[in-house]
Amino acid sequence: MLNRRKFIKGGTALAASATILSCNTEDQTEKVNNPNSKEGLPISIATWGPNTAAVDAAMNEITNGKTALDAVEAGAKVPEGDPNDMSVGYGGRPDREGKVTLDACIMDAEMNAGSVSFMQNIKHPISVARRVMEKTPHVMLAGEGALKFAREEGFEEIDLLTDQAKKEYEEWLKTSEYKPKANIERHDTIGIMAIDTSNKIAGACTTSGMAYKMHGRVGDSPIIGAGMYVDDEVGGAVATGVGELVIKTCGSFLITELMRQGRTPQEACEEGVKRIAAKLKDFENYQVGFLAINKKGEHGAFAILKGFNYAINQGGKTEVFESEYLVKN
Ligand code: ASP
Repeated sequence: MLNRRKFIKGGTALAASATILSCNTEDQTEKVNNPNSKEGLPISIATWGPNTAAVDAAMNEITNGKTALDAVEAGAKVPEGDPNDMSVGYGGRPDREGKVTLDACIMDAEMNAGSVSFMQNIKHPISVARRVMEKTPHVMLAGEGALKFAREEGFEEIDLLTDQAKKEYEEWLKTSEYKPKANIERHDTIGIMAIDTSNKIAGACTTSGMAYKMHGRVGDSPIIGAGMYVDDEVGGAVATGVGELVIKTCGSFLITELMRQGRTPQEACEEGVKRIAAKLKDFENYQVGFLAINKKGEHGAFAILKGFNYAINQGGKTEVFESEYLVKN
């Protein structure tokens, strides 16, 4: 068995593909588990340590008898409404034209899914995504169409650009260099999953996307199977980081499918990151973090770079854990 904790620096694609080839689920005897993972339900879990309030809000819904779907929506709304979280919702960093454009998606145990992308002026895109899921024949609405639908559904329009985000944007304009930074403030995109007392799973993901992206750019976060995916038979996964890498590898779907084939959540997350490493040039210059759970409430996490962490509320106990990562300098 390979030492899966040992990895890599520079020229890693070959090593990564060798690792992938050797990880045949059939002859894998020793399972790799996250040392912080244990079985236990109900559970809510989210990308980034500062999202403890979000997992607690989600668990609060569950303990009040609400569904996992209600839980992930409530959890996602916490950073969306927080102006100090500059990567999600209100207060998010704008694109290079100074516009805050939001992406979000939501999915339940019955494979219902809804999503909005490139939407402006609405504080809680996750709630609009849920309405898309529940009230339209579609999965995804974008831009003006998403905003029009939100208006029709009674959502209030507000200016999402806060003074702080505007100030930073004006500073950025001096160089106008687009260089995605890893782990900005350690509370980028929230991807959140929950399993409720009926043992049903749901997931949600919401973000203002990469700071200073091109106007019109859509990331992984509103794409079912990229930024988030849940399957009630198996579990689910969420992603954070540079969305382009996640989209190209269908990250969350890949991880969920690997768990279906028998991988632990930890093994599946590691494999998701190694797939990026094997396939995509310059991956070591970008951060991507994956988080997964199975239906027993076990979890896993893995990232390209150091610095990814996550929050969990399992049976009422809230904790933050650091994720393992691939590129050891
Ligand atoms: N995944 C998000 C995007 O690419 C950004 C992030 O997680 O910070 O839009």
